[in-house]
Amino acid sequence: PIYLDNFSTTPIAPEVAKAIIDAWSLPSNASSPHTMGARAEAIVAEARGDVANLIGAAPSEIVFTSGATEANNLILLGVAEAAVVAGINRRKIVLSSIEHKSVLVPAGTLEDRGFEVILVPAHDTGVIDMRALAAAVDDRTLLVSVMGANNETGALQPIREIVAIASKVGAYVHSDCAQLVGKLPIDVLDLGIDYLSISGHKMYGPMGIGAAFISASALKPKAIAFGGGQQAGVRPGTEPVPIIAGLGTAARLAGSRMELDAAHGTLLRNMFLDELSSLNSDVEIITQNSETLPGTVCLKVNGIIADDLIESVQRQMSISTGSACNSGQVIPSHVLMGMGFGQVVARSIFRIYFSRYNSKQDAIESAFILAKAIGHLRHPAGQPRQ
Ligand code: PLP
Repeated sequence: PIYLDNFSTTPIAPEVAKAIIDAWSLPSNASSPHTMGARAEAIVAEARGDVANLIGAAPSEIVFTSGATEANNLILLGVAEAAVVAGINRRKIVLSSIEHKSVLVPAGTLEDRGFEVILVPAHDTGVIDMRALAAAVDDRTLLVSVMGANNETGALQPIREIVAIASKVGAYVHSDCAQLVGKLPIDVLDLGIDYLSISGHKMYGPMGIGAAFISASALKPKAIAFGGGQQAGVRPGTEPVPIIAGLGTAARLAGSRMELDAAHGTLLRNMFLDELSSLNSDVEIITQNSETLPGTVCLKVNGIIADDLIESVQRQMSISTGSACNSGQVIPSHVLMGMGFGQVVARSIFRIYFSRYNSKQDAIESAFILAKAIGHLRHPAGQPRQ
């Protein structure tokens, strides 16, 4: 099948696979006090530099984690704990309602620990309501957490403006950039972000590895797991050298071909949409009026349940609705509900992401497959057209 479910995970780059295999042949722990250990340590250090370089950070500001989920947990729970320990009397956390569950759920546990969590809604364009955000952020706010790009709509969020609002009252800013890093340029120093989350498998890297950027000038989060002293104790545990090497390679690759990838994604998306509209399939683009990640499109098929459409085309193409962990359940996506869509409309929306490895033929063929399937679902065989 044509793979267009790149919001869920991207294919691994061949260069990344090679880097992982090469590093796997080195049986050593980066903390070991011998030559082989030093080689493993050098691989980790190089990858840390590559990841830092991609986002304009210093290598010492990068902590490897098992993915963006862990980075989000570390930052939300760890910063809240650090504030309590340091006697910082701020107990308010402001998030958007379209955040990934790995931000929303840890924030929920902070409510149980006496923090007030405010959820800022989004407009139907997929961009958060900045007036509501500005009204919510005050001098009791410890942390504002808004993602860089949403994983269901691709909509980019106004991080620079969010930093401007938060910095006026001395609140820290975290951005879950699992979907954005490696796809669009981002410079943490220039933006003034305090914390940022990265995921390997969303940028043609391996699963099971990611990173947290923790600015040297921000409050250092308390660890959420305890053990050895690796990574300055913020994230103890033996560094998984092979997949760290993979993440570093993915970061280097993404940095060197970012414009190329973005132009390719945009070209394919436009070809797909042109083809789809020429086939008269009556679909609506949800994110028509917002800036989105290149290569992405979020579509509404009026009168059709998106999951039925996805099932009917699954032998020819792989697409999905909502976040991967919601698929299979009938609960409509919290992101689409957070944008103000009702349950029925939310269930008619799905997303597509043309990656670095999709071809022009994929774009044309997938439009054709979808248009045909939509036609069948609207007018099942044997039923007269209205
Ligand atoms: N944040 C966003 C926006 C995501 O899209 C995802 C992936 O689904 C995650 C966090 C979780 O990332 P990981 O799979 O690396 O834990």
